[in-house]
Amino acid sequence: MITKMGALSVGITAPHLSHGDVRSEPYKIRKRKVETDVLVVGGGTAGVVAAIQAGRAGHSVTLLECQSQLGGTTSTAGVAFPGIFFAWGKQIISGIGWEMVQEAVALNGDSLPNFSIPHGRQHWRHQVRLNGPLYSIIIEQKCIEAGVQIRFYETPTSMVFKKDHWLVETVGKGIHAEIKCKQIIDCSGNAYAAAVAGFDLLREKETQPGTLMFQIGGYDFEKLDLEMIKEEYEKAIKNGELVRAEMRGNIVGLLKNAGDNIQHIAEADSTTSESHTMANIRGRESLLKHLKFLRRLPGCENTKIIEMRTETGVRETYRIDGLYKITHEDYVSGKVFDDSVSYSYYPIDLHIIEHGVTPKHLTDGVVATVPLRALIPKNSRNFIVAGRCLSSDRLANSALRVQASCMGMGQAAAVASVLAIQKGISPAEVPIEEIKSTIKKYGGIVPGA
Ligand SMILES: Cc1cc2nc3c(=O)[nH]c(=O)nc-3n(C[C@H](O)[C@H](O)[C@H](O)COP(=O)(O)OP(=O)(O)OC[C@H]3O[C@@H](n4cnc5c(N)ncnc54)[C@H](O)[C@@H]3O)c2cc1C
Repeated sequence: MITKMGALSVGITAPHLSHGDVRSEPYKIRKRKVETDVLVVGGGTAGVVAAIQAGRAGHSVTLLECQSQLGGTTSTAGVAFPGIFFAWGKQIISGIGWEMVQEAVALNGDSLPNFSIPHGRQHWRHQVRLNGPLYSIIIEQKCIEAGVQIRFYETPTSMVFKKDHWLVETVGKGIHAEIKCKQIIDCSGNAYAAAVAGFDLLREKETQPGTLMFQIGGYDFEKLDLEMIKEEYEKAIKNGELVRAEMRGNIVGLLKNAGDNIQHIAEADSTTSESHTMANIRGRESLLKHLKFLRRLPGCENTKIIEMRTETGVRETYRIDGLYKITHEDYVSGKVFDDSVSYSYYPIDLHIIEHGVTPKHLTDGVVATVPLRALIPKNSRNFIVAGRCLSSDRLANSALRVQASCMGMGQAAAVASVLAIQKGISPAEVPIEEIKSTIKKYGGIVPGA
């Protein structure tokens, strides 16, 4: 009776709730026309830095991001430990990325690693642990403050260059936009925009595995019978219940680290909705199988998922075929080019599905650099990339892809784009000394300067 009375009273006070209003074509695709100086495709690790830099330089910027938040691999995939900003006791990457990282650390009440203590073979000691969700909010606010127009859930479908500008068609939820822009910065991580624009890409048959970041709990690691667990793990692999490579054969590591960055998903590929769907499903399936296995073991009966990131992080897909391809030899020798615009410092870090990863550290004093030409696709105009899809061989890319390096590239690429707009030319034609001095003016660090 009370339920009926409730319904009656709602009906009396709000009669419009008792029947559905008819709406014709509520999802009719809306057409939009947008004009902007700079179009950044991909609001991830490199893309937000590029967008903010272009905005702070006084230009209109539109940022397309196909997901629901900014940060890309750093936030959505949960790899919230950017590295590495310092090398051999000296800061090598600064500017907008560093500003945002420091702000996120301070606002979360965390502290930065002590960079003056050498990391030795444990390079991760110099990575900055961030609160990923907080970082994603901070960078969104910074974009808004810089005047960046963010367009979530949107992706380009065609790009045509017309003498001095690009016409880009995009599709989003209920939206079909035509964006006219002077310069494009591809920060999709996959060289997606470069492919849509018709430039050649690089990719080998084999790519590094991906990882779904998660955290498990509900057991006391110190009290576990690790020998028994290892035996049961081997049996589960033998009977086909588990696949050794998926946790790198390291069930103890999975329990000790409570998840984190341990999983390996073969051929994880984020380039299309279909391939990314598969990578996500396989990452989650693998977690579920391991959870069910653990919950059968004495001491692990209450194992739970504490946290799981939205998507499987992807390490390697396509790179552009640029005006210069950075080689492994360039990286490990710390080659400085006339057009080096930022630094990169990390061990060579190629993950291999069967063997895991054995980082190969740089020799003392070596810091690699990124030449502007590695960010510019061959035969392109008014187009540049930043992030892991820069032109490089696989081994060099396994180190160049890390977050601090991507942030440095993002700032440099945006400076080159903006100067190109001001001069009515292409990024490759901008005098390199002007690019370098402008990066420094905005707080970036330029090799050799
Ligand atoms: C599991 C894992 C562990 C790692 N460990 C470390 C580590 O310890 N330290 C470290 O520094 N780095 C690490 N890395 C590497 C590093 O995180 C990435 O290489 C780096 O973040 C890539 O930055 P990016 O800007 O190129 O791409 P992303 O940060 O991936 O950004 C790309 C953005 O573009 C968007 N996008 C893609 N396609 C489209 C499209 N078609 N339209 C619109 N938007 C699009 C994506 O949604 C995303 O937001 C790791 C990576 C992985 C996957």
